[in-house]
Amino acid sequence: MINAITSISFVILVHPLKRFAQVLKPAFPENAKINPVNTPTFWYGIIDLWRIMAHQDKDPFMKIEKDMVVSIHYTLTDNDGNQLDSSQGQEPLVYLQGHQNIIPGLEDQLEGKTTGDKLTATIAPADAYGEVNAELVQEVPRNQFQEPDTLQVGMQFQVGTEAGPMLLAITALTDDTVTVDGNHPLAGVTLNFDVEVVEVRAASDEEIAHGHVHGPGGHHHD
Ligand SMILES: [Zn+2]
Repeated sequence: MINAITSISFVILVHPLKRFAQVLKPAFPENAKINPVNTPTFWYGIIDLWRIMAHQDKDPFMKIEKDMVVSIHYTLTDNDGNQLDSSQGQEPLVYLQGHQNIIPGLEDQLEGKTTGDKLTATIAPADAYGEVNAELVQEVPRNQFQEPDTLQVGMQFQVGTEAGPMLLAITALTDDTVTVDGNHPLAGVTLNFDVEVVEVRAASDEEIAHGHVHGPGGHHHD
């Protein structure tokens, strides 16, 4: 183990330093001395060594990119400051980057971030749940419903369409008509996220093949 670390540290510390000195050499007089502690390469080498020794399995500097499993805490508000959703007080949200597990706008903002990073992201509807589609709002006769007297604004129900099942919400009622809306409840809404990256790890081959996370916070297969 000691031998392994010693040889690794030789490669990381000494080898780049040699390269660095060679690059700098032409710009310095022959007798100029470069203090290695003042070179960035030296400190990158120290950081690399620490990563290898202290974090064999978890890399604190692992950046978010495609096929990374990412854990985040988040709070979501609309432009009026209303809190729409939050992971605070619960387990963090765990998702697989680059597999459309979360809205594209948030995925874009998280790309390149690392454990401990905090960010605020304002995401336009086009990069979130889309704009409101007026064609998905329809007025239908109340007597087409099985129990027309029990209907209330806010009720949701599923209908079969050519494109698959669709969730409709009742948004208005008259004595004779029911207004139903097939838009996502957050369609047309600009989303403001407060995010903290809790953990970043590489996904397993199986997770990448399935397109989702397994284990804590992820999918559980029978
Ligand atoms: Zn799976």
